Amino acid sequence: MLNTFLLLPLLLVSPGPQATSYDLVLRGATIVDGSGKPGFEGDVAIRDSRIVAVGEAHGKGKREIQLRGQTIAPGFIDVHTHSENIMRTPGAQNFVRMGVTTIVTGNCGSSTLNVGSFLNSVDGKAAVNVGTLLGLGTLRASAMGGSFDRPPNAREMERMRSAVDQAMRQGALGISTGLIYLPGTFSKTDEIVELAKIAAKHGGIYASHMRNESAKIYEALDELIEVARQAKIRAQVSHIKLGGNGMWGQADRVLQKLDHARAEGLDIAHDQYLYTASSTGLSALIPDWVREGGDAAFRRRLADPSTKNKIIQDMKDRLAQTGRDSYAYAVIASYAREPRFRGKNIQEAAKLKYNQDDLDAQIWLILDIHRNGGGRGVFHGMHEGDVKRFLAHPLTMIASDAGPSAGGAAHPRGQGNAVRALSRYVRELNLLTLEEAVRRMTSLPAETFKIKHRGRIGPGYWADVVVFDPAKIEDRATFDNPGAAPVGISLVLVNGTPVFENGRPTAARPGKAIRRN
Ligand SMILES: [Zn+2]
Repeated sequence: MLNTFLLLPLLLVSPGPQATSYDLVLRGATIVDGSGKPGFEGDVAIRDSRIVAVGEAHGKGKREIQLRGQTIAPGFIDVHTHSENIMRTPGAQNFVRMGVTTIVTGNCGSSTLNVGSFLNSVDGKAAVNVGTLLGLGTLRASAMGGSFDRPPNAREMERMRSAVDQAMRQGALGISTGLIYLPGTFSKTDEIVELAKIAAKHGGIYASHMRNESAKIYEALDELIEVARQAKIRAQVSHIKLGGNGMWGQADRVLQKLDHARAEGLDIAHDQYLYTASSTGLSALIPDWVREGGDAAFRRRLADPSTKNKIIQDMKDRLAQTGRDSYAYAVIASYAREPRFRGKNIQEAAKLKYNQDDLDAQIWLILDIHRNGGGRGVFHGMHEGDVKRFLAHPLTMIASDAGPSAGGAAHPRGQGNAVRALSRYVRELNLLTLEEAVRRMTSLPAETFKIKHRGRIGPGYWADVVVFDPAKIEDRATFDNPGAAPVGISLVLVNGTPVFENGRPTAARPGKAIRRN
């Protein structure tokens, strides 16, 4: 300690003629700066975690890296993740491997309730920067106790209002809903509007996993637009998609509806993952009235023959509405009770379990899985044509809907999504320019979610950087092998520190908490 104090003045007064002026200089790459404008050759110089020079960096770096032939872009910002448990895998290796340097969690209505302590807990302790929304589903569950199939009373509403206010003061970027999940599914538009008004007062955003992404998507869009209008809040359609063959081909109509709302002055954008299958709990296949009230209530309903018949009929009707005649589109990604079902679709698994695979057997299996702790599913319900149409829209961000993991999880999006934008949709299909795809993963999400000084390569911006070879970058994760790591990325920096280098994630944890303002 004493020595440090004695040395410090000496260091300050004798910088010497060969002084390094930067911590790190990346030289000679093509810079795609996140704005969408054409890439240009140049250097990027970094000091004290920030970018300090772009173009020509005079002076020397303590470390210099020659990157001829490679591209430098801002680290990708993934605004739709489920990362409440990030401190269990603070390396967030799946995100780092695909160049994601900032994640927003708290989506689909599910989040931490204590935003302040969550942000403190991740600050300087994870590989990536982390921001969060307040999930109104989690909030509703805590404020309303065990019964949800009703509007909140005045006292509960007041409790929720003040919780939103507090979360926003503690740095939440906004609020989220998951209107297909319990208990969010029981919240009415008025309730959401009331809470969104509080978030709007603080400049927050409203992100929604809408009430329907299939046959009733237009009503669901109406609801989101109504919330944006009444609460005067910016809104985000989470993981925009069209599920079920009956809906395929309507992406333009969905986008037109959103364009109309924007023409009226509303500030609405969307994000998307680049796959034709979704992933969530298998219980999402069961109507919410059947699951409401928890395990005991669920078992009671199943034990009553007439209610059980009603459940089966309701599930058949819902399936038919989506244009399907079986649950073969739903694949079991994990189910702790019967691991042999992993990778089997519901129809195949029903055959294994009951030696019959008609629709009744499939529904029994779905109910049985829920009764035994639930499992995760991958649902092959979308059409590539719609995925492309959504991606072509200039306000569509590219976000994974994944959580942190050491090596990928149930769905390939967790370790492939951002890279897939650049390999499949830029290089192979030419649907977007490289600059535009990068903009959708950098400055567009940063501006939409009001994440300051990130999302661009420019002086003063935090040094979140991804370096890749645009000719070689490629996602390798598939539905059969979702853990396969992408290739083509050589370096990822978070706040100036390498989190991915020499082909693997490093042990560094330079990520910062992202707080509103
Ligand atoms: Zn969702």
